[in-house]
Amino acid sequence: RLYNEVIELKGNIRVFCRCRPLNQDEIAKGYTSVIDLSSSQENDLQVICSDSSKKQFKFDHVFKPEDSQEDVFMQTLPIVISVLDGYNVCIFAYGQTGTGKTFTMEGTPENRGVNYRTLEELFKISKDRSSTMKYELSVSMLEVYNEKIRDLLVENSDQPPKKLEIKQSAEGTQEVPGLVEARVHGTSEVWELLKSGSRVRSVGSTNANELSSRSHCLLRVTVTGENLLNGHKTRSHLWLVDLAGSERVGKIEVEGERMKESQFINKSLSALGDVIFALASKTSHIPYRNSKLTHILQSSLGGDCKTLMFVQTSPSVADLGETICSLNFATRVR
Ligand code: ADP
Ligand code: MG
Repeated sequence: RLYNEVIELKGNIRVFCRCRPLNQDEIAKGYTSVIDLSSSQENDLQVICSDSSKKQFKFDHVFKPEDSQEDVFMQTLPIVISVLDGYNVCIFAYGQTGTGKTFTMEGTPENRGVNYRTLEELFKISKDRSSTMKYELSVSMLEVYNEKIRDLLVENSDQPPKKLEIKQSAEGTQEVPGLVEARVHGTSEVWELLKSGSRVRSVGSTNANELSSRSHCLLRVTVTGENLLNGHKTRSHLWLVDLAGSERVGKIEVEGERMKESQFINKSLSALGDVIFALASKTSHIPYRNSKLTHILQSSLGGDCKTLMFVQTSPSVADLGETICSLNFATRVR
């Protein structure tokens, strides 16, 4: 470690809440907002329930619907850049489909999200520090769908993604042999890679949006740093994770393939919740092995690793039930 900070474990887990604005469709249908952000506390939010009672939730930070991508990134910055000091970092976007997980992480070309801004900042800082530190950055992109891991950075994006397995290394860390690690030197290179990864992701699917709501998409930035003054070397990972939609699927509508998918999603999201909860409550047994998602992230969750979860919500009265579920989930891990 470059800076020998001693941080309490709990201090390494943070939860930010972000509520998107009502969209045109919701406004047209006359749906109102159930999110009350008028509290004097900046990290407070209240949800107006159907009986007009209010439920209160507290997070490390609560973003308002009008808060910009820049506002969100400014709060995220100190956490993401700690990867340059040798820390492993995991950032998750959790929530129902349509609440802005992809908007927060990926963003749009006009409105870049956390992923792009992070890479931009990492390149900038590594340049600023180049008289004392030599950094190398590489990027991997993978998907977890139905408890299968697929590499999204394959040579030929017309090919279906390659299947991967998790192995434990001699040092006891979790590795994914064969996973492509593409060396990157600038943001435009990263952007091209992400675009090709998204193409691979949608191969063979009739509805790319639908698929993306049913699988976890993981971007891994590997940073190696060498201190040019003392020769000290570090290697660390930053994971940027766009999780599958957390919505519960009605039992009656779901059959066959869909049923299997939603069982896998429930299993991996609750496994993630269990792991973060166990870490926050300092339990000695951390159940990493209960899902591919938590297993692959094992070396980057816990210890002195830093974890940030964005819990994304819809403001609409029509999504009240799911919003309460998401906020309860996030409250449990905080
Ligand atoms: P998810 O990935 O959770 O399914 P998306 O990121 O695709 O959700 O967001 C759904 C829609 O809402 C998109 O059109 C997106 O641009 C829009 N959106 C999400 N969050 C915001 C926000 N904070 N401000 C403006 N538009 C948003
Ligand atoms: Mg999405």
